[in-house]
Amino acid sequence: MGPLLSGLVAFAVGVNLWFLFEYLLHRFAMHELHGKGIMSREHLLHHVTAGWGFTSRLLLAWLGVALVGAAAWLPLGTWLLGPAVGVGLAAGWVLGYGFYEFQHAQAHLRAPRNRYERWLRKHHFHHHFGHPMANHGVTIPFWDIVFHTREAPDVVPVPRRLAAGLGWLLDDDGELRAEFAADYVLVGIDRMDERQAGIDRARAFASLAPNP
Ligand SMILES: [Zn+2]
Ligand SMILES: [Zn+2]
Repeated sequence: MGPLLSGLVAFAVGVNLWFLFEYLLHRFAMHELHGKGIMSREHLLHHVTAGWGFTSRLLLAWLGVALVGAAAWLPLGTWLLGPAVGVGLAAGWVLGYGFYEFQHAQAHLRAPRNRYERWLRKHHFHHHFGHPMANHGVTIPFWDIVFHTREAPDVVPVPRRLAAGLGWLLDDDGELRAEFAADYVLVGIDRMDERQAGIDRARAFASLAPNP
């Protein structure tokens, strides 16, 4: 195999290496740790509000992923099969992560435009609102299927007070847009006070679904 082809194959392997780590990190380094360490804490705070905003945590995550690519996958691939494989593996890893970050942010911020985006949102928002210990993969269902953590309900119930984290789901009156009625239902009352915020936080840090 020439260096170009082996580099491309290594790139595909690198992307999929990320998808595996997307699952493992999300499940074991975020949800299983219940807020211990910055990665877990920041992720569970994301569960408290279900919103998405740019924070410095994102830069830290990019830095960490780039460091792992440069310090682990690049030398490992180079040592095993040469520099083209090392570069391909590391580049695939970093781009796989970029794809994940982009899709995750878009899922919270923008309505789906195709079958993949519709699937990804339902899959991920069931993780948020239905069962945080299911659907740890965000971009692909493969590892959830392998580890038996995939759940695919017909309709995802979204607590009203948290639906603002997914603005695209709601119309101007704060009701569910008709085009999403096949996939989502708003539940509970639109009440947010200090007590409810405390409950939401405690349940998120216990990796439990928010109560309606
Ligand atoms: Zn999310
Ligand atoms: Zn999560």
